[in-house]
Amino acid sequence: MKSHYYQLKTKKVLKMLHSSEQGLTASQVEQRQKESGANSLAEQKNHSLAEKFIAQFKDLMIIILIIAAVIAGITGDLSDAMIIFLVVILNAAFGVFQETKAENAIQALKEMTTATSRVKRDGQVKVIKSSELVPGDLVILEAGDIIPADLRLLQSSSLKIEEAALTGESLPTEKSTAPLSEAELPLGDRENMAFMNTNVTYGTGMGIVTAIGMQTEVGKIAKLLSETKQTITPLQQSITHLSKLLSILILAIAVIVFLVGTIVNQTSFLAMLLTAISLAVAAIPEGLPAIVTITLALGTQVMARKKALVRRLPAVETLGATEIIASDKTGTLTQNKMSVEKLYLPDELITAKNYQPTASDHLIQSMILANDTQITEQGLTGDPTETALIQFNLNQQFKVAALQKDFPRIASLPFDSERKLMSAIVKAADGDIIMYTKGAVDELLERTNQIFDHGTIRLITEIDRKQIKQANQQLATQALRVLAFAYRPMEKFSSNVQPSPILENQLIFVGLVGMIDPERPEVKQAIVQAKTAGIRTLMITGDHKTTAAAIAQRLKIIAQPTEENIVTGSQLEKMSEAELKRRVPEISVYARVAPEHKVRIVKAWQQRGKIVAMTGDGVNDAPALKTADIGIGMGITGTEVSKNASDIVLADDNFATIITAVHEGRRVFANIQKAIQYLLSANLGEVLTLFFMTLLAWDILAPAQILWINLVTDTFPAIALGIEKAEANVMKNRPRGAKSNFFSNGVLASIIYQGILEGSLTLGVYWLAIQFPFHHSNELIHADALTMAFATLGLIQLFHAFNSKSIHETIFTRRTFNNRIFNWSIIISACLLFSTILIPAFNATFKVTALNWQQWSIVLLGGILMLLIVETVKLVQRQLQKF
Ligand code: ATP
Repeated sequence: MKSHYYQLKTKKVLKMLHSSEQGLTASQVEQRQKESGANSLAEQKNHSLAEKFIAQFKDLMIIILIIAAVIAGITGDLSDAMIIFLVVILNAAFGVFQETKAENAIQALKEMTTATSRVKRDGQVKVIKSSELVPGDLVILEAGDIIPADLRLLQSSSLKIEEAALTGESLPTEKSTAPLSEAELPLGDRENMAFMNTNVTYGTGMGIVTAIGMQTEVGKIAKLLSETKQTITPLQQSITHLSKLLSILILAIAVIVFLVGTIVNQTSFLAMLLTAISLAVAAIPEGLPAIVTITLALGTQVMARKKALVRRLPAVETLGATEIIASDKTGTLTQNKMSVEKLYLPDELITAKNYQPTASDHLIQSMILANDTQITEQGLTGDPTETALIQFNLNQQFKVAALQKDFPRIASLPFDSERKLMSAIVKAADGDIIMYTKGAVDELLERTNQIFDHGTIRLITEIDRKQIKQANQQLATQALRVLAFAYRPMEKFSSNVQPSPILENQLIFVGLVGMIDPERPEVKQAIVQAKTAGIRTLMITGDHKTTAAAIAQRLKIIAQPTEENIVTGSQLEKMSEAELKRRVPEISVYARVAPEHKVRIVKAWQQRGKIVAMTGDGVNDAPALKTADIGIGMGITGTEVSKNASDIVLADDNFATIITAVHEGRRVFANIQKAIQYLLSANLGEVLTLFFMTLLAWDILAPAQILWINLVTDTFPAIALGIEKAEANVMKNRPRGAKSNFFSNGVLASIIYQGILEGSLTLGVYWLAIQFPFHHSNELIHADALTMAFATLGLIQLFHAFNSKSIHETIFTRRTFNNRIFNWSIIISACLLFSTILIPAFNATFKVTALNWQQWSIVLLGGILMLLIVETVKLVQRQLQKF
């Protein structure tokens, strides 16, 4: 019987998979990629263009329209039938175009945020796309990674993996490397394996890829997972819901038009049927969900260029509504480029460059040895806090490499943001085993009982502790990040057992190091911008209260540190939910917090009805990122787990980018409102025109005319409105509030009055043309009047597109012509609309007559009136707002 990988020794697994401790060679990788394909789970396949085109005809209304057109064609009205077919086909083509564009944009979103893995190939560590992994690859793991394929573990240093997705067990499993003898172990017990899509929560390790893609354990059940299903966003859902509601309303009106037309006005059954159905097809905003999706998706592309990668489409909308941004300090508000400024040895503070080490200097040793920095030809890589310590020693010409060689590491206790400590256990040349520990001052002092004072070790006194805390305070007030250092001689240590944090006790205190982490230069301005936009910035940090306060003050997050506006994690722990909810408005800085505190902060604000954005980078930040309305991951320093839990990822880790993204979110939301207002008021105008024409027993616009107006004036300008530039005041208004939607802020009222206005102006022009005919021939009075109504309805919509460029602001500014695509969409729409009248060959098909200049003037007047009335209403609204 074939053995499982978990039953075999690591050497045997390496051999079986034809790999080595140096990893695969480039040619092996190439060969295997050909054989085994990409490491990805099968996704639902996209529909082909032809399938999408056919799907457009599945709409009941369209089917009825086609049937009616066929009957009309047979019974003699060939021109109507032709136009209807043309419109139906063009409509379908637009539908396919919009859908494809939306799909492509969503696909692009996915590709922007693909997962990466660190592998060892040809003896070198490389970062590659996880989809390019092949069996036999060596994958390096650390806390926060998502396991990219199924792995047999070759190394494990306190490695813990949370496998809930696969086993349902939410507590992380401790991993090891030794072979397991049992034949049929359940997945949860295969302790030397790591499975695709599970999360490393702690420690470090390395594994060899045993299965990729659909061959992995998760691949086997992928078909059952709902993840691959295409999800509809809440936004699209509400828009689809709205479209359905409007469809029912419009259908009801169409039925009334049909009944009144046939029964009261005695118009022929077929003619009325065609009119009613054309009305329904024209007025039902079936393109609305696609326009919303396209606008959002195009917004994400702009954001990507500005370094904010959107992972979930609705985030674009929510971003614009953000009221609170809770940001990590290190790396987001600051540069995460640390450098050592000051050192403290019992009772003296020393400026970094003046530091003179002693023969066996425990401070220097712990800086270098309790450190995971990799020294490569390209420079130092690793955690900036740690690289800063190595850099300091290199700058001072201290012998870093020699020390590392003399004290080889035998085990380590990795840093985690709960413990706030990191330790390394090393072996000296004389066989002594020593543990070096570094970490947050208060945490480390708690575990300390002795002090290394000028070459002698003695018990630590309360006075010592006080002095150390004072020194810490002094450094922190200068905005320095302070680390404490200690060591502990170990009598014996077996490298076979995993070290436990219990070892970090009875430490001997050595000294402190203060590091500067300068603010990002653009952040101060961004915080001011946020404030102007009604957005509150909060600082959340694992760092010391005083350091946090000093930086918050420099960044103008607070004016003065007080007991009220700065709170520590331990104070937070003592607060009840109710108390926290009551106090959050006054707190601006949270110091010494652990990731679980972040969830409480988010929830407290949410209970106050606020929309909260929260940043996070570590593995433990995932719950807070998920709870926040907008989870913001870090592209550079973020772990895969945190990025996966985020709605957007900052490619540059920069706070200022969040503000840029909010700006974009607001622009996109406003543009969708503009498109919706434009589209729905136009549809309402069409419905009202037809409805009253029928009720008043006037001539009725022909089906071809209705469909044509809808085709040429709706789609182009609406999409073009979606890519409008931001208005000057986007970041001057307050956030729109959690309860707002696309109809808030007066949009619904505008749609209604503007729709009524469009209908009234069209009917008005028709009435005028009948009352005061401007034509030499009396026979053509009705045909001319109808042509004028048709031209007016179309032109009004084009003029109204300009109104819609701003919902409240005037359009009589230079920016009115700043959207080239919009300008072209208006020109093309106007050409298509008026060619039906101006080109005699088309007149008969569209049932229109040629108009003279007086008649054109009236049509033009209708359009201009629309523009002027709406602008006047906006002006009055603005004046009223001032009071
Ligand atoms: P932020 O939450 O803004 O990113 P932070 O980076 O200071 O702040 P953590 O990384 O959780 O938060 O660090 C918390 C504390 O742990 C630090 O203030 C420092 O005292 C200590 N610390 C940070 N990095 C290390 C490390 N590599 N080794 C030991 N201790 C560390």
